[in-house]
Amino acid sequence: MAKQVTEHEDFKKSPDSLNSDAIELSNVSDLIFEQRARWLKIRSLVTAVRERIPAPVDHMGCHVLPENVLKLHSIASQNLQVLLSLLLSSQTKDQNTFAAMQAFRAYFEPDEITPIGILATDESTIDQLIRGVGFHVKKAGYIKKIAGLLFNELKGQIPNSLPELIKLPGIGPKMGILYLQNARPYPGSDQLKNQNDDSFGLAVDTHILRLSQQWRLVTLPSHSSVATMTPELARAQLEQIVPREQWKEANPLLVGFGQTVCGARSKRCSDCDVSGTGLCSADQLNTTSAKRKIKQESLKIKDIEDLHVVKKEINHADQIVVHGRSLRPRKKKK
Ligand code: SF4
Repeated sequence: MAKQVTEHEDFKKSPDSLNSDAIELSNVSDLIFEQRARWLKIRSLVTAVRERIPAPVDHMGCHVLPENVLKLHSIASQNLQVLLSLLLSSQTKDQNTFAAMQAFRAYFEPDEITPIGILATDESTIDQLIRGVGFHVKKAGYIKKIAGLLFNELKGQIPNSLPELIKLPGIGPKMGILYLQNARPYPGSDQLKNQNDDSFGLAVDTHILRLSQQWRLVTLPSHSSVATMTPELARAQLEQIVPREQWKEANPLLVGFGQTVCGARSKRCSDCDVSGTGLCSADQLNTTSAKRKIKQESLKIKDIEDLHVVKKEINHADQIVVHGRSLRPRKKKK
Protein backbone atom coordinates (compact mmCIF):
# COMPACT_ATOMS: atom_id res chain seq x y z
CA MET A 1 0.00 0.00 0.00
CA ALA A 2 1.29 3.49 -0.80
CA LYS A 3 2.67 5.39 2.13
CA GLN A 4 0.27 8.05 3.38
CA VAL A 5 2.06 11.37 3.53
CA THR A 6 0.40 14.41 4.97
CA GLU A 7 0.44 17.68 3.09
CA HIS A 8 2.69 19.13 5.77
CA GLU A 9 5.33 16.39 5.45
CA ASP A 10 5.24 16.73 1.70
CA PHE A 11 6.06 20.43 1.82
CA LYS A 12 9.11 19.78 3.96
CA LYS A 13 10.69 17.56 1.32
CA SER A 14 13.24 18.88 -1.14
CA PRO A 15 12.33 18.75 -4.86
CA ASP A 16 14.80 15.86 -5.37
CA SER A 17 13.34 13.71 -2.64
CA LEU A 18 9.90 14.54 -3.99
CA ASN A 19 10.90 13.09 -7.36
CA SER A 20 12.28 9.89 -5.86
CA ASP A 21 9.21 9.39 -3.68
CA ALA A 22 6.80 10.22 -6.46
CA ILE A 23 5.17 6.80 -6.56
CA GLU A 24 4.59 6.75 -2.82
CA LEU A 25 3.09 10.20 -2.68
CA SER A 26 -0.17 9.00 -4.13
CA ASN A 27 -2.21 11.54 -2.24
CA VAL A 28 -0.49 14.52 -3.82
CA SER A 29 -2.13 15.36 -7.11
CA ASP A 30 -0.26 15.16 -10.41
CA LEU A 31 -1.21 18.75 -11.00
CA ILE A 32 0.70 19.96 -7.98
CA PHE A 33 3.76 18.00 -9.10
CA GLU A 34 3.54 19.47 -12.58
CA GLN A 35 3.07 22.96 -11.23
CA ARG A 36 5.91 22.52 -8.77
CA ALA A 37 8.23 21.43 -11.58
CA ARG A 38 7.09 24.48 -13.55
CA TRP A 39 7.80 26.75 -10.57
CA LEU A 40 11.27 25.26 -10.03
CA LYS A 41 12.18 25.89 -13.67
CA ILE A 42 10.88 29.47 -13.51
CA ARG A 43 12.62 30.06 -10.18
CA SER A 44 15.99 29.08 -11.56
CA LEU A 45 15.54 31.26 -14.68
CA VAL A 46 14.37 34.24 -12.63
CA THR A 47 17.22 33.79 -10.13
CA ALA A 48 19.72 34.01 -12.99
CA VAL A 49 18.15 37.27 -14.20
CA ARG A 50 18.04 38.71 -10.67
CA GLU A 51 21.73 37.96 -10.17
CA ARG A 52 22.47 40.13 -13.21
CA ILE A 53 19.96 42.90 -12.48
CA PRO A 54 19.66 44.28 -8.91
CA ALA A 55 16.31 45.72 -7.83
CA PRO A 56 15.12 48.45 -5.42
CA VAL A 57 13.68 45.81 -3.07
CA ASP A 58 17.20 44.48 -2.45
CA HIS A 59 18.40 47.62 -0.70
CA MET A 60 15.22 49.58 0.00
CA GLY A 61 12.68 46.85 0.82
CA CYS A 62 10.69 47.08 4.05
CA HIS A 63 12.93 44.50 5.69
CA VAL A 64 16.05 46.64 5.12
CA LEU A 65 16.95 48.69 8.21
CA PRO A 66 19.79 51.25 8.04
CA GLU A 67 22.98 50.28 9.87
CA ASN A 68 22.62 52.94 12.58
CA VAL A 69 19.12 51.65 13.39
CA LEU A 70 20.45 48.10 13.70
CA LYS A 71 23.27 49.30 15.96
CA LEU A 72 21.52 51.88 18.14
CA HIS A 73 17.81 51.12 18.26
CA SER A 74 16.08 48.55 20.50
CA ILE A 75 14.53 45.38 19.05
CA ALA A 76 11.09 46.84 19.86
CA SER A 77 11.83 49.95 17.79
CA GLN A 78 13.34 47.93 14.95
CA ASN A 79 10.23 45.74 14.79
CA LEU A 80 8.00 48.82 14.87
CA GLN A 81 10.01 50.35 12.00
CA VAL A 82 9.61 47.17 9.91
CA LEU A 83 5.85 47.25 10.53
CA LEU A 84 5.59 50.96 9.69
CA SER A 85 7.59 50.45 6.47
CA LEU A 86 5.18 47.71 5.47
CA LEU A 87 2.19 49.91 6.25
CA LEU A 88 3.63 52.72 4.12
CA SER A 89 4.54 50.38 1.26
CA SER A 90 1.05 49.64 -0.02
CA GLN A 91 0.44 51.29 -3.42
CA THR A 92 3.88 52.86 -3.15
CA LYS A 93 7.29 52.26 -4.75
CA ASP A 94 10.06 50.97 -2.47
CA GLN A 95 12.11 54.11 -3.15
CA ASN A 96 9.29 56.36 -1.84
CA THR A 97 8.60 54.14 1.16
CA PHE A 98 12.27 54.15 2.08
CA ALA A 99 12.50 57.95 1.72
CA ALA A 100 9.43 58.42 3.95
CA MET A 101 10.90 56.13 6.61
CA GLN A 102 14.17 58.06 6.48
CA ALA A 103 12.24 61.32 7.01
CA PHE A 104 10.45 59.67 9.92
CA ARG A 105 13.76 58.54 11.44
CA ALA A 106 15.35 61.98 10.97
CA TYR A 107 12.41 63.60 12.80
CA PHE A 108 12.82 61.33 15.83
CA GLU A 109 16.62 61.42 15.95
CA PRO A 110 18.51 61.05 18.24
CA ASP A 111 15.68 59.04 19.84
CA GLU A 112 14.38 55.80 18.41
CA ILE A 113 10.85 55.46 17.06
CA THR A 114 8.47 54.27 19.81
CA PRO A 115 4.69 54.14 20.40
CA ILE A 116 5.00 56.93 23.01
CA GLY A 117 6.99 59.10 20.61
CA ILE A 118 4.38 58.61 17.89
CA LEU A 119 1.51 59.36 20.29
CA ALA A 120 3.25 62.62 21.23
CA THR A 121 3.47 63.65 17.56
CA ASP A 122 0.61 65.40 15.74
CA GLU A 123 -1.11 63.38 13.02
CA SER A 124 -0.56 66.31 10.65
CA THR A 125 3.21 66.18 11.33
CA ILE A 126 3.25 62.44 10.61
CA ASP A 127 1.31 63.11 7.42
CA GLN A 128 3.92 65.69 6.36
CA LEU A 129 6.76 63.25 7.04
CA ILE A 130 5.21 60.49 4.91
CA ARG A 131 3.63 62.63 2.19
CA GLY A 132 5.67 60.87 -0.54
CA VAL A 133 3.72 57.62 -0.15
CA GLY A 134 0.30 56.74 -1.53
CA PHE A 135 -2.73 57.40 0.73
CA HIS A 136 -0.50 59.21 3.25
CA VAL A 137 -3.40 60.91 5.04
CA LYS A 138 -5.06 57.56 5.78
CA LYS A 139 -1.75 55.95 6.69
CA ALA A 140 -0.91 58.76 9.16
CA GLY A 141 -4.17 57.92 10.95
CA TYR A 142 -3.31 54.18 10.98
CA ILE A 143 0.14 54.92 12.44
CA LYS A 144 -1.42 56.87 15.33
CA LYS A 145 -3.98 54.11 15.97
CA ILE A 146 -1.32 51.36 15.94
CA ALA A 147 0.83 53.36 18.38
CA GLY A 148 -2.22 53.75 20.66
CA LEU A 149 -2.99 50.00 20.57
CA LEU A 150 0.64 49.09 21.25
CA PHE A 151 0.87 51.48 24.18
CA ASN A 152 -2.53 50.87 25.76
CA GLU A 153 -3.31 47.21 25.02
CA LEU A 154 -0.31 45.28 23.73
CA LYS A 155 2.41 46.17 26.25
CA GLY A 156 4.50 47.67 23.47
CA GLN A 157 4.85 44.37 21.60
CA ILE A 158 3.58 43.77 18.09
CA PRO A 159 1.54 40.51 17.86
CA ASN A 160 3.36 37.40 16.65
CA SER A 161 0.55 35.67 14.79
CA LEU A 162 -1.03 36.48 11.45
CA PRO A 163 -4.65 36.56 12.71
CA GLU A 164 -3.69 39.05 15.44
CA LEU A 165 -1.51 41.14 13.15
CA ILE A 166 -4.19 41.68 10.55
CA LYS A 167 -6.45 43.12 13.26
CA LEU A 168 -4.11 46.14 13.35
CA PRO A 169 -5.42 49.06 11.27
CA GLY A 170 -4.02 49.11 7.71
CA ILE A 171 -2.22 45.76 8.05
CA GLY A 172 -3.24 43.07 5.53
CA PRO A 173 -2.09 39.44 5.13
CA LYS A 174 0.85 40.29 2.84
CA MET A 175 2.22 42.82 5.32
CA GLY A 176 1.55 40.48 8.26
CA ILE A 177 3.49 37.62 6.65
CA LEU A 178 6.41 39.87 5.71
CA TYR A 179 6.48 41.29 9.23
CA LEU A 180 6.60 37.81 10.81
CA GLN A 181 9.34 36.72 8.43
CA ASN A 182 11.51 39.73 9.24
CA ALA A 183 10.79 40.72 12.85
CA ARG A 184 13.18 39.72 15.64
CA PRO A 185 12.17 38.11 18.95
CA TYR A 186 11.66 40.60 21.78
CA PRO A 187 14.30 40.18 24.51
CA GLY A 188 13.17 37.65 27.12
CA SER A 189 10.29 36.53 24.90
CA ASP A 190 9.78 33.29 23.04
CA GLN A 191 7.82 35.16 20.40
CA LEU A 192 8.97 34.13 16.93
CA LYS A 193 12.01 32.38 18.46
CA ASN A 194 10.82 28.83 18.06
CA GLN A 195 9.12 29.35 14.75
CA ASN A 196 10.71 28.74 11.42
CA ASP A 197 10.42 32.10 9.69
CA ASP A 198 9.80 30.36 6.36
CA SER A 199 6.59 28.88 7.66
CA PHE A 200 4.45 31.98 7.96
CA GLY A 201 3.25 32.06 4.36
CA LEU A 202 4.08 33.32 0.89
CA ALA A 203 3.41 37.05 0.74
CA VAL A 204 1.71 37.93 -2.55
CA ASP A 205 1.89 41.51 -3.82
CA THR A 206 0.76 42.99 -7.12
CA HIS A 207 3.94 41.86 -8.95
CA ILE A 208 3.62 38.27 -7.73
CA LEU A 209 -0.10 38.22 -8.52
CA ARG A 210 0.59 39.31 -12.12
CA LEU A 211 3.65 37.11 -12.70
CA SER A 212 2.10 33.95 -11.25
CA GLN A 213 -0.86 34.35 -13.63
CA GLN A 214 1.19 35.03 -16.74
CA TRP A 215 3.38 32.01 -15.91
CA ARG A 216 0.17 29.96 -15.43
CA LEU A 217 1.18 28.95 -11.92
CA VAL A 218 -2.24 29.99 -10.61
CA THR A 219 -5.66 30.09 -12.21
CA LEU A 220 -9.04 31.32 -11.12
CA PRO A 221 -11.12 28.27 -10.10
CA SER A 222 -14.21 27.79 -12.27
CA HIS A 223 -16.44 27.79 -9.17
CA SER A 224 -14.85 30.98 -7.81
CA SER A 225 -17.16 33.55 -6.29
CA VAL A 226 -14.91 36.38 -7.49
CA ALA A 227 -14.45 37.52 -11.08
CA THR A 228 -10.68 38.05 -11.01
CA MET A 229 -7.76 36.46 -9.23
CA THR A 230 -7.03 38.00 -5.81
CA PRO A 231 -3.75 37.96 -3.85
CA GLU A 232 -5.26 35.63 -1.25
CA LEU A 233 -6.53 33.14 -3.87
CA ALA A 234 -3.12 33.21 -5.53
CA ARG A 235 -1.42 32.72 -2.16
CA ALA A 236 -3.49 29.63 -1.40
CA GLN A 237 -2.44 28.06 -4.73
CA LEU A 238 1.19 29.18 -4.59
CA GLU A 239 1.60 27.76 -1.09
CA GLN A 240 0.59 24.38 -2.54
CA ILE A 241 3.10 24.64 -5.36
CA VAL A 242 6.14 26.41 -3.92
CA PRO A 243 8.10 24.32 -1.38
CA ARG A 244 7.70 25.76 2.11
CA GLU A 245 11.39 26.49 2.52
CA GLN A 246 11.19 28.82 -0.50
CA TRP A 247 8.24 30.92 0.70
CA LYS A 248 10.32 33.67 2.28
CA GLU A 249 12.82 34.07 -0.57
CA ALA A 250 10.08 33.92 -3.22
CA ASN A 251 8.76 37.37 -2.27
CA PRO A 252 11.88 39.52 -2.82
CA LEU A 253 12.94 37.33 -5.75
CA LEU A 254 9.72 37.94 -7.67
CA VAL A 255 9.05 41.48 -6.46
CA GLY A 256 12.53 42.54 -7.66
CA PHE A 257 11.93 40.80 -10.99
CA GLY A 258 8.64 42.69 -11.37
CA GLN A 259 10.33 45.99 -10.45
CA THR A 260 13.14 45.70 -12.98
CA VAL A 261 12.37 43.25 -15.78
CA CYS A 262 8.68 42.45 -16.00
CA GLY A 263 6.42 45.26 -14.88
CA ALA A 264 2.73 45.61 -15.63
CA ARG A 265 3.38 48.07 -18.44
CA SER A 266 7.02 47.51 -19.32
CA LYS A 267 8.42 44.08 -20.12
CA ARG A 268 12.08 43.57 -20.98
CA CYS A 269 11.60 40.20 -22.65
CA SER A 270 14.91 40.45 -24.49
CA ASP A 271 16.71 40.56 -21.09
CA CYS A 272 14.59 37.78 -19.60
CA ASP A 273 15.70 34.15 -19.39
CA VAL A 274 12.06 33.01 -19.20
CA SER A 275 11.49 34.34 -22.71
CA GLY A 276 11.48 31.67 -25.41
CA THR A 277 10.92 28.80 -22.94
CA GLY A 278 7.18 28.63 -23.50
CA LEU A 279 6.62 29.16 -19.75
CA CYS A 280 5.28 32.71 -20.06
CA SER A 281 1.96 33.56 -21.67
CA ALA A 282 2.96 37.24 -21.89
CA ASP A 283 6.28 36.64 -23.68
CA GLN A 284 6.42 39.45 -26.21
CA LEU A 285 9.15 37.77 -28.26
CA ASN A 286 6.99 34.78 -28.88
CA THR A 287 4.66 36.35 -31.38
CA THR A 288 5.20 36.67 -35.09
CA SER A 289 4.71 40.43 -35.05
CA ALA A 290 7.22 40.85 -32.22
CA LYS A 291 9.82 38.77 -34.06
CA ARG A 292 9.24 40.81 -37.21
CA LYS A 293 9.58 44.04 -35.22
CA ILE A 294 12.92 42.98 -33.75
CA LYS A 295 14.20 41.98 -37.17
CA GLN A 296 13.28 45.39 -38.48
CA GLU A 297 14.88 47.13 -35.50
CA SER A 298 18.07 45.20 -36.08
CA LEU A 299 18.45 47.01 -39.39
CA LYS A 300 19.05 50.13 -37.32
CA ILE A 301 16.94 52.26 -39.58
CA LYS A 302 14.70 54.24 -37.28
CA ASP A 303 11.82 54.95 -39.57
CA ILE A 304 10.53 51.77 -41.16
CA GLU A 305 8.68 53.76 -43.79
CA ASP A 306 12.08 55.04 -44.91
CA LEU A 307 13.05 51.46 -45.51
CA HIS A 308 10.35 51.02 -48.14
CA VAL A 309 11.37 54.28 -49.81
CA VAL A 310 14.99 53.17 -49.71
CA LYS A 311 14.09 49.80 -51.22
CA LYS A 312 12.40 51.54 -54.14
CA GLU A 313 15.11 54.13 -54.63
CA ILE A 314 17.93 51.67 -54.31
CA ASN A 315 16.90 50.07 -57.56
CA HIS A 316 17.56 53.35 -59.34
CA ALA A 317 20.77 54.62 -57.76
CA ASP A 318 24.38 53.67 -57.32
CA GLN A 319 24.60 54.79 -53.71
CA ILE A 320 22.08 56.00 -51.14
CA VAL A 321 22.84 57.30 -47.64
CA VAL A 322 20.22 56.61 -44.97
CA HIS A 323 20.74 57.91 -41.43
CA GLY A 324 24.43 58.25 -42.14
CA ARG A 325 24.80 54.74 -43.54
CA SER A 326 25.81 54.15 -47.10
CA LEU A 327 23.73 51.54 -48.88
CA ARG A 328 24.75 50.15 -52.24
CA PRO A 329 22.30 48.44 -54.56
CA ARG A 330 22.95 44.83 -55.43
CA LYS A 331 24.09 44.43 -58.98
CA LYS A 332 21.60 42.55 -61.07
CA LYS A 333 22.95 39.37 -62.64
CA LYS A 334 23.18 39.61 -66.34
S1 SF4 B 1 6.58 38.86 -20.19
FE1 SF4 B 1 8.65 38.84 -20.99
S2 SF4 B 1 9.87 39.77 -19.36
FE2 SF4 B 1 7.95 39.11 -18.45
S3 SF4 B 1 8.39 37.06 -17.67
FE3 SF4 B 1 7.46 36.84 -19.69
S4 SF4 B 1 9.21 36.67 -21.05
FE4 SF4 B 1 9.98 37.53 -19.11
